[in-house]
Amino acid sequence: MSTFQAPKGTYDLIPPESAKYLAVREAIAAPLRNSGYGYIETPGFENVELFARGVGESTDIVTKEMYAFETKGGSKLALRPEGTASVLRAALEANLHKLGNLPVKLWYSGSYYRYERPQKGRYRHFSQVGAEAIGAEDPALDAELIILADQAYRSLGLRNFRIILNSLGDKECRPVYREALQNFLRGLDLDEETLRRADINPLRVLDDKRPDIQKQLTDAPLLRDYLCDACKAYHEEVRELITAAGVVFEDDPKLVRGLDYYTRTTFEFVHDGLGSQSAVGGGGRYDGLSEMIGGPALPSVGWALGVDRTVLALEAEGVELELPASTSVFAVPLSEEARRVLFTKVTELRKLGIAADFSYGSKGLKGAMKNANRSGARYTVIAGERDLAEGVVQLKDMESGDQTAVGVNEIVAELESKLG
Ligand code: AMP
Repeated sequence: MSTFQAPKGTYDLIPPESAKYLAVREAIAAPLRNSGYGYIETPGFENVELFARGVGESTDIVTKEMYAFETKGGSKLALRPEGTASVLRAALEANLHKLGNLPVKLWYSGSYYRYERPQKGRYRHFSQVGAEAIGAEDPALDAELIILADQAYRSLGLRNFRIILNSLGDKECRPVYREALQNFLRGLDLDEETLRRADINPLRVLDDKRPDIQKQLTDAPLLRDYLCDACKAYHEEVRELITAAGVVFEDDPKLVRGLDYYTRTTFEFVHDGLGSQSAVGGGGRYDGLSEMIGGPALPSVGWALGVDRTVLALEAEGVELELPASTSVFAVPLSEEARRVLFTKVTELRKLGIAADFSYGSKGLKGAMKNANRSGARYTVIAGERDLAEGVVQLKDMESGDQTAVGVNEIVAELESKLG
């Protein structure tokens, strides 16, 4: 062990487990790539104001969890705590919304940072794959995203997740509800901080997980009863479209989520095998965000799925991903000349797309065969002076243990046809 360890709340992805993370990222991205979403990458940090304005001044993410810092040049930046604000910022900056092809559909994959109290499933550095569809108000778009997330989880073999759905209303009906909720909250026995939150963003109080607060909220007015006709019709259409796609969901009138920018459709994917950190992903519509960060009106919808928690969910369900063997052929040279010959063969195999590795360093046969075993290779190619003198190499089938001599000039074609 070195003097240093990974910082608190972080962990390293190390082979062979790291392959699972890659597979999860790819599985989430595949349905997006297949549905018109283009890949976008933005910096790991942004102007801190973007998140303050976008995510919301009163959210835990901004007030407590952001890694904000000032650079030597005096810029106030923050490590990104989430993806949506950055992606929208980048799309506006590149004028993607002006290219006349709305919605702009983008997907991303990367690291996010929140200064949270670490526990299982909650880290200070975590990874998400996300999707945003910018610039269209269409229930089919909300439905598309929910369906694609469902498809991604199912393609991984996950079964015990639930989709929770709600509508948060829009700028017509939410203010009316907000006031009704505020009046209700003012009559409760709440601590000072919660009262302040009730003033700034009363919907967030519904999200409070403390049992004594939840108990008092039983009779809280529900947004569902305040939705305007347009929001009701929109939500009904989303529900119908995802139902028609065979996607099962639950209505949860209290789902609000921890970010201020959401409007109308809001959803979360939860997994029951994860304990308290049960949300594996979440998202929703954010029709006002673009204007909040200085852009034009661009109704949009998106989600982000957590890679770390998806891996935990797979483990909780005992799902073993079918990962391609990292090495198919392992080469073991037993002489100087064999090193040169087999190294060339390994390079040829790799060019053909066959995963091949080589016994490096000066090891004896025993050590080299141990490496071959550990590599998981299906075949090992062994060659010594005597073999080469006869113009052959030894091909060992690692499953049956059978070993046969194959001509030096035939070995690549032979392996290609065997592994074909
Ligand atoms: P949020 O932006 O909070 O809705 O997060 C979206 C998803 O990212 C969550 O459902 C989690 O899967 C994941 N996530 C958020 N925060 C963390 C964290 N601190 N550690 C691990 N995963 C997280």
